[in-house]
Amino acid sequence: MIIETLPVGPLQCNCSILVDEETRLAIVIDPGGDFEKIQGRIEKAGAKVTAIVHTHTHIDHVGATAPLQRWSSAKASIHEADRPLYDLLPVQAQMLGCPLPEICELEGDLTDDHVVRAGAIELGVLYTPGHTPGSVSFVVHGDDASVAFTGDTLFRRGIGRTDLWGGDSGLILRSLRNRLMTLEEKTVVIAGHGPTTTIGEERRANPFLRVA
Ligand SMILES: [Zn+2]
Ligand SMILES: [Zn+2]
Repeated sequence: MIIETLPVGPLQCNCSILVDEETRLAIVIDPGGDFEKIQGRIEKAGAKVTAIVHTHTHIDHVGATAPLQRWSSAKASIHEADRPLYDLLPVQAQMLGCPLPEICELEGDLTDDHVVRAGAIELGVLYTPGHTPGSVSFVVHGDDASVAFTGDTLFRRGIGRTDLWGGDSGLILRSLRNRLMTLEEKTVVIAGHGPTTTIGEERRANPFLRVA
C-alpha cells in the first residue's frame, strides 16, 4: 500500500490517498480542496479511486468531494451524524469566508467498525465524535505499524476545537481516551492538519491527554 498525504485548500487540510499496489485501486480521505492537485496525484499513481471517505463534514474537508466524485464515480461516504453539518455548508462558507463548494450525494455508511475496502486495503472506521457529532477516525494496518487518520479529533500536541456546530468537549476527550489512545503506541497518526505524530508520542506529550 502506498499512502500519500497532501495539504489542500485554504486551511491546508491533509488529504490522503491510499493506493493498493497490486490492483491500483485507491481510497481518498478528506478531499478538502484543490481538486486538480488531488486528481494529478491520482493520475500520476495510475490509480482508480473506488471510495471517498471523510473524517467529518467541515467545509475544509469536503471542498473537492463533488468534483472528485464526478470524475471518479466513486462512492462518497460520511458518518450519518455529520449530515446536518453538510447541509449547513452555505453557513460554514459564510462563517469561514470560503467559497461555497459544489455538493454531491453522500452515503451515511461510515458507522463504527465499518471497513472500507480497495483491493487488499482494509480501512477500518472508528467512531470518535466530539469535534463534530459524526467525526470518525480511520485505521489501516501497514507493513511496520498501523496508520490512523484522525481528522480534527487529534493533532500533534493538540486536539480539535469543540466550539463549532455540535462540538462537545467532554465527548472529544472520551473519544481520545477510550478509542484513539487504546491504539498501539507505534501507530502513526496522520492528523487533519499539520505534522504527523504517533499515538505513543501524543500519550506522553499532548497537554490534553497527559494524565495529571
Ligand atoms: Zn473540523
Ligand atoms: Zn479541519
